[in-house]
Amino acid sequence: MIAENLKKVRESIPEDVCLIAVSKTKPIALLTEAYTQGQRVFGENKAQEMRDKHAALPKDIIWHFIGHLQTNKIKYIAPFVHLIHSIDSLSLLQAVNKEALKNGRVIDCLLQFYIAAEETKFGLDREEAAELLSSKEYKELQNVRIVGVMGMATYTEKKEQIRQEFKNLYTIFIECKKMYFENVPEFKEISMGMSDDYSIAIEEGSTMVRVGSAIFGERVYS
Ligand SMILES: *Cc1c(COP(=O)(O)O)cnc(C)c1O
Repeated sequence: MIAENLKKVRESIPEDVCLIAVSKTKPIALLTEAYTQGQRVFGENKAQEMRDKHAALPKDIIWHFIGHLQTNKIKYIAPFVHLIHSIDSLSLLQAVNKEALKNGRVIDCLLQFYIAAEETKFGLDREEAAELLSSKEYKELQNVRIVGVMGMATYTEKKEQIRQEFKNLYTIFIECKKMYFENVPEFKEISMGMSDDYSIAIEEGSTMVRVGSAIFGERVYS
């Protein structure tokens, strides 16, 4: 089942787009199944859940944190997390920096932007990002590195709306690159696209897609 799903998703994604298998709420056995099929990049949105899965699974897995992150939980993932997609404030970035320093690491992060027409999505707007990136406090941080942007489109059937939201994120990426990261080659990631919209996201310039239910099946929340 998972083998087939993974194969289908992989075949529809170009080689240079990173496929993050979003395994939140799913048991270890299912992650192991994906691992057996060669999947090495996984995404989780709860810090303790990610810590526990990291402890239980092979150490060559690359863990992406994709959910809202509370500052008091960064410590659970700081020793091993590969990329945090959900930076939406200077204070969160400072807190990540602090935990990264304790672990003697530099942690890669994405700025999460608010691109959807929904009340509930987290993220920065352009002005907030500009304020963060031009602040003295940000420039002092030695143990975090911003490598791109992330966003979630509106949950809707309207494909044109989704496409427009992804276009907006792409434009934001280009603007940030020009203004703040012109000579920073690592600033190159655009994390956009989920099970229902990753094909559109790739057409609009996504470099990493976060795909859960199309690989692992629908999630059941209890
Ligand atoms: C759950 C989640 C996904 C994956 O969603 P699917 O629709 O199951 O592919 C992607 N990104 C974020 C931020 C998520 O929380």
